[in-house]
Amino acid sequence: MPSVTINDERVQTAEGQSILEAARGAGFTIPTLCYHPDLSVAGSCRLCLVDVEGHSGHVPACSQPVSDGMVIQTESAAVVAARRFVLELLLQRYVDRGDTSGDRDSTEFLRWVKHYQARGPAEPPAAHCPVNSDANPFVWVDMNKCIMCTRCVRACQEVQGRFVWGVAERGTQTTIVAGAGTPLLDARCESCGACVAYCPTGALDDKMSVGLGKPDRVVSTTCAYCGVGCGLDLNVRNDRVIRVTTRSQAELGRETRVNGMSLCVKGRYGYDFVHHSERLTGPRVRRYLLDGKPKASATGSERDWVEVDWPAALELVARKMVEVARERPQPSAFGVLGSAKCTNEENYLMQKFARQVLRCHNVDHCARLCHSSTVAGLAMAVGTGAMSNSMKDVAEQARAVFLIGSNVTEQHPVFGTMLRQAVLERGLELVVADPRKIDITEFATLHLQHRPGTDIALVNGMMHIILKNAWHHADFIARRCENFQAFADSLESYTPVRVSAITGVPADNLVHAARVLSVARPMATIWAMGITQHTTGVLNVLSLANLQMLLGNFGVPGSGVNPLRGQNNVQGACDMGVLPNVYPGYQAVTGNAAALFASAWATDPIAPLTHDPPGLTVTEMVEGFGDGRLRMLYVLGEDLALTEPDLNHARGCLAKGEFLVLQEIFPSDTAEFADVLLAGAAFAEKFGTFTNTERRVQAVRQAVPPPSLPAPLSEKEGREARGARADWAITAELARRVLNLQGRRPRGPQAGWDYAGADEILAEIAAVTPSYAGVSWARLDRGERLQWPVPHATHPGTPILHVDDFPRGLGRFHVVDHLPAAELPDQDYPLLLTTGRVLYHWHGGELTRRARGLQEVYPETLIEINPEDAVPLGFADGEQIRIRSRRGAMVGRAVLTERVASGVVFANFHFPGAQNVNYVTIAALDPVAKIPEFKVCAVKLEKG
Ligand code: SF4
Repeated sequence: MPSVTINDERVQTAEGQSILEAARGAGFTIPTLCYHPDLSVAGSCRLCLVDVEGHSGHVPACSQPVSDGMVIQTESAAVVAARRFVLELLLQRYVDRGDTSGDRDSTEFLRWVKHYQARGPAEPPAAHCPVNSDANPFVWVDMNKCIMCTRCVRACQEVQGRFVWGVAERGTQTTIVAGAGTPLLDARCESCGACVAYCPTGALDDKMSVGLGKPDRVVSTTCAYCGVGCGLDLNVRNDRVIRVTTRSQAELGRETRVNGMSLCVKGRYGYDFVHHSERLTGPRVRRYLLDGKPKASATGSERDWVEVDWPAALELVARKMVEVARERPQPSAFGVLGSAKCTNEENYLMQKFARQVLRCHNVDHCARLCHSSTVAGLAMAVGTGAMSNSMKDVAEQARAVFLIGSNVTEQHPVFGTMLRQAVLERGLELVVADPRKIDITEFATLHLQHRPGTDIALVNGMMHIILKNAWHHADFIARRCENFQAFADSLESYTPVRVSAITGVPADNLVHAARVLSVARPMATIWAMGITQHTTGVLNVLSLANLQMLLGNFGVPGSGVNPLRGQNNVQGACDMGVLPNVYPGYQAVTGNAAALFASAWATDPIAPLTHDPPGLTVTEMVEGFGDGRLRMLYVLGEDLALTEPDLNHARGCLAKGEFLVLQEIFPSDTAEFADVLLAGAAFAEKFGTFTNTERRVQAVRQAVPPPSLPAPLSEKEGREARGARADWAITAELARRVLNLQGRRPRGPQAGWDYAGADEILAEIAAVTPSYAGVSWARLDRGERLQWPVPHATHPGTPILHVDDFPRGLGRFHVVDHLPAAELPDQDYPLLLTTGRVLYHWHGGELTRRARGLQEVYPETLIEINPEDAVPLGFADGEQIRIRSRRGAMVGRAVLTERVASGVVFANFHFPGAQNVNYVTIAALDPVAKIPEFKVCAVKLEKG
């Protein structure tokens, strides 16, 4: 290891370190502008010049490696003068018109200008570019402040894997441009804001924050959108979020995040829904309830909402629950839905409410509609239904990735950028299987464009080839798996010729893919809803587990089974037992856990367990609400009237139901059917935890108060009696009221409902959930990286599962055969519809449609059609068209594109009303997981 002397101090350095890294590592400050530790070294700004004994002239510290015995001076008088000179040169072209200077204390550039007392020219230069020169809603462009450090160019290429920014012209005319001088969005900018985050001068800035002033506080929390779980900083001024920022690891210190400086457009610019004018600011009940009229006969203004205070709303709901419980003790007349948008603590309370207070297992959430097949399939194959590896180890150490049914760069964008970097920087072999030419196929070694609903045939076909060529991992199979021979025999008929006929993938490509995935080990398999939302969802997952066992890809970094969970806390909601068949920590309700939880919650075990699973699932609850089996639904943050399949039917059920309590932050589509609306808090308004897709539990912190009415309705009312509330607090108070009315007083450390804060609920979760036993608010608040299982308070967490064995002992191969989808195209409905998500929106769109910039860029449903199908029907690009199925119709704007193959149509599910694709989708369910087949149904197209 080279030893050097810096400013007369002996410093041990690492081989290959630059002077800059060595000096900073030893605590010396060297100024930089073009340098950033996340980016390649440009060595162009010359601000990091230092003196090195024996070198004539100054040396750039960022690009000069240390060598043994080097003697370095970082702040000699000559160096300081040189730096001042560099800064004064840059000031010759730097023009700040002051448009954004009130929004930050300073910039990196101006801090060094001040530090070295550099002076600009006596006559300030005139602006040489237009200010705010790009029309996009997110990135403020003012090239008058550009100092040509090229950090934006390198961030776009190296962090984001995009190539939007570039350098144009030469000499004094050199400038930074987007694309070939095109608007940013036309240059395929993904609006991630990385260029802004890395810009040291404010030449690129956050447009949504211009003119809003400086923050009065900055709160570190976790993104509320997708399951990647990025860390971010909410910049707050006067109780409003005015900007989202990120910090490099050096700035974060001990706090760990999955994303470094990266965010996607939703995380960085989708925060303004928090302050949207449509937020619910207090509880509401229908007028007919206050008038004592029956719902069925209520019309006109009797159905209007009336704002009431919390005691009135919660007492009304509690009394109704007590009445229903008394009239129908069994089978239970209640359904309870948790929410993948809400915290672990809130979801824990929802299932405790269902089981302890209402005494039923009718509790579920939207995982039913996205990854219930993953949970069931992986439990059968290996014993647990979670992602086995971490995003970081997959991105850094996998030699190959099989990405199937996951539009990762749009749905899990920051993980998508990690995969793009892995391809660009270290040659990751990426095999993408997807019916659409999704964006990441541009980075793939191979794209297998199979027909929707043929995943099993595709995977079986590759495994057939692997076995024929003896590319399988015989030793791993012998040591760690069972039922191999039956499985191997079942693959005999999946010849490349047959599989090619089923899937539409050329036989040569099947062989190529099988070879790549077998040779480049470790290989990680990644999937999302393209695999799970089928009537064969569980079988699809089993076939992917078969593939990874066949190749021995478990237990090491860069391997494993890696389902990407969709919403921010869908993993956590599952972990918390918001499922009809398990208590928190996946403890079966039919096993010993029933007695444990009865004891913890001081209640009798729930009986009788006649249903399989022992409670109703989401879709069954909606059905049961319509036919009277259920009399009350208590729904937290789920928009059933938008996200259920076959919506005409689902909405009909909701309309017929007796009493619906909806706890939400907006009057969603489901609010139309609600009797009581309880105003919850958004992610920025409460404390708690989310668990991301890689089982990592992360802190959520309150940055702003929940919204309230401008003033109490009457003088008697205090602000506390009105206003939105943290959801855990609403559920806890409702539980106290129901138990009180029933005269029940459950006693014990985990039995009551008097929580002072979310940290107390987390402590209760840890007490009853073995995999969360070592998770505490104190550890999370310190920024510890905790991936469950965390069995005790000093356990460091478990980044990789299945290292030595599987939770079920041996991994089990399953015989899985191709089955057709429930409804395939025919003469009447000749096209196949598949649905999915887009970068600028998120799930039902309740939040992103209320984020101004996101909605501006993507304001409506777009329908992708192959020109071969569109042209004979007379459709032009951009024309309004209608998709019709046997169940209903929806409208959207046609996009003629070869992203979809001929015969396939794609639409997203983010928009309500006539644009909602779920009027068309089918409610055919996987028989085990009860997940609907959102990915395949038969449709025809008409002029809109
Ligand atoms: Fe948020 Fe996901 Fe985007 Fe990260 S990738 S900023 S978690 S939406």
